[in-house]
Amino acid sequence: MMELSRKHLSISKSLTLAISAKAKEMKADGLDVIGFGVGEPDFPTPSFIIAAAKEALDSGKTRYTAAAGIKELREAVCRKLKSDHGLDYRQEEIIISNGAKHSLYNAFQAILNPGDQVIIQSPYWVSYPELVKMGGGKPVFVEASEQNDLKMKMADLEKAITASTKAILINSPSNPNGSVYNRAELERIAELAVEHDLYLVSDEVYEKLVYDGLEHISLASLGKEVQDRTILVNGVSKTFAMTGWRIGYAAGPEAVISVMSNLQSHATSNPNSIAQYASVAALTHPASDETVAKMVEQFAKRRDYMVEQLNLMAGLSCLKPGGAFYVMLNIQDLLAKKYQGQRIDGSIDFANLLLKAEKVAVVPGIAFGADHLIRLSYATSMDNIEKGLKRIESFVKEIV
Ligand code: PMP
Ligand code: GLU
Repeated sequence: MMELSRKHLSISKSLTLAISAKAKEMKADGLDVIGFGVGEPDFPTPSFIIAAAKEALDSGKTRYTAAAGIKELREAVCRKLKSDHGLDYRQEEIIISNGAKHSLYNAFQAILNPGDQVIIQSPYWVSYPELVKMGGGKPVFVEASEQNDLKMKMADLEKAITASTKAILINSPSNPNGSVYNRAELERIAELAVEHDLYLVSDEVYEKLVYDGLEHISLASLGKEVQDRTILVNGVSKTFAMTGWRIGYAAGPEAVISVMSNLQSHATSNPNSIAQYASVAALTHPASDETVAKMVEQFAKRRDYMVEQLNLMAGLSCLKPGGAFYVMLNIQDLLAKKYQGQRIDGSIDFANLLLKAEKVAVVPGIAFGADHLIRLSYATSMDNIEKGLKRIESFVKEIV
């Protein structure tokens, strides 16, 4: 075997996607699997978005577009950023990519040089460290503990900054733990970025999924000096139940967006033309806000139920997340115990045994850098949640 890329051999596969694939495969084999694994809204894509895609097909919007995306969608993104956050962006400061994940990939490729450090909150979304490594950088983790409301302590963040730090990555609301940073915390983060001359990469894909009256604040809206160093990433996957359409976007300084766009023009050309037209409808249709609000209402009900039920189960506990659609379940008290004679040494053992015994798919916390946690997504029907939680209850009762 000839040698493979040393840089990329260290990149692991996405465990969230692998677990989702496994659960789907088991379902296809006729098994009654409940999937709490992947973070993917279960709602259908709203009909006015589907209609826009059909219209795009019928009117022949089937050609290459500009690599950075169609003008209509970039304009729609500019208008959205203005109306939601009061932010002014020009079209040249926007890129449309194949999902927010692809925008993040492009962003790290564009700003990192070998050895540059990127500060990431831990537990972290599974792809962040790998995206940074693929860009030649080094992820540096700052703990977001249950004791600190699932957020980083600002003093810890400050301590993590070194001469090699290039960027701070903020994901609020967060995947996996649902934490939402408040204005004062974001102002402190922004202050540190300005003081140390750092980029801020702000992944805002869960911005609309906030509960209990919490407010999502876009980092870039904290002032011109902050906006000038922020790469804001968002997309339509989570807000509009459009995970399969693969449309995300980034807004940032023209110099950064231009490098991202050049890379994209060689790597993937433009994102799918039909999906881009559908995304214009997602961002501009008059029914959008109401449709999203209805989904958020459902997510909030599911979250309340899930958190309440899990906290009733002996050996398990979880905090109530303020946003996104995940619960991080603490299994610390069950570690080193046994399920039907098989020892549970960490989150992978717990997840594997649960899938085998009760056919419930969850993501082991180790994927997010926390082996005493399990991630459950409540982006699934209330029926599934009720059924799945009963199975988890039967499972943990057997752990001694
Ligand atoms: N960021 C976070 C925090 C996510 O959870 C996801 C989910 N896949 C993404 C980015 C990427 O979303 P997409 O590529 O589907 O737009
Ligand atoms: N972000 C979602 C998750 O964490 C989707 C899968 C992925 O892209 O990782 O489950």
